[in-house]
Amino acid sequence: MKAMVLFSGGLDSSTCLALAVKKYGAENVTALSIYYGQKHDKELRAAEAVAAHYGVDRKTLDLTQIFAGADCSLLRGSEGEIPKESYAEQLTKTEGKPVSTYVPFRNGLFLAAAASEAIGCGCSVIYYGAHSDDAAGNAYPDCSEAFNRAMNEAIWLGSGEQVKIEAPFVGLKKADVVRMGTELGVPFEKTWSCYEGGQRPCGKCGTCRDRAAAFEACGLTDPLMKGE
Ligand SMILES: [Zn+2]
Repeated sequence: MKAMVLFSGGLDSSTCLALAVKKYGAENVTALSIYYGQKHDKELRAAEAVAAHYGVDRKTLDLTQIFAGADCSLLRGSEGEIPKESYAEQLTKTEGKPVSTYVPFRNGLFLAAAASEAIGCGCSVIYYGAHSDDAAGNAYPDCSEAFNRAMNEAIWLGSGEQVKIEAPFVGLKKADVVRMGTELGVPFEKTWSCYEGGQRPCGKCGTCRDRAAAFEACGLTDPLMKGE
């Protein structure tokens, strides 16, 4: 059996990759990294490094054009600043809508693209790293359990019962992902989560705050923040 992992080079998808490699063996795992017009390519370089660490095959795909008209502060060409607040603070101002770093239906699009790729290369399972902290308060609705169930069913039916989704963290918190990744020996120092493309993580954007809180909850220090 072969597996495909939606792989951004961040902490969650790197832990997904480690799980897939453990279960299927590196030779049966393909990491799929999708470019969507993000402001920097730092996470794609992290993806290269982590994929090389695990010795898995890596495919890349460019879906930038689909988001050309999107109003999302993560994207190149967007006027909006990336917020320097926690998701909880941001959600107090969005009136029930997703946060400004939500890329419209990104996980839906990426999973659908991965399903097409998976059928083409004989992979019967797609892993992705959605977790419940991202879905909380509807910050990223395409990370929720309900979304995952619906997408899994759509892909299973639409692929002629050839491809399933595996979302190992969908009911877990990011701290659980850090704990699992630590046990699996994930090279967190090679991953990149920050929405900014600086030399070091900014420490202030939503995802930096989430990542820091997750390490702290585990009583661990993020290797990217060592020497602070
Ligand atoms: Zn940051």
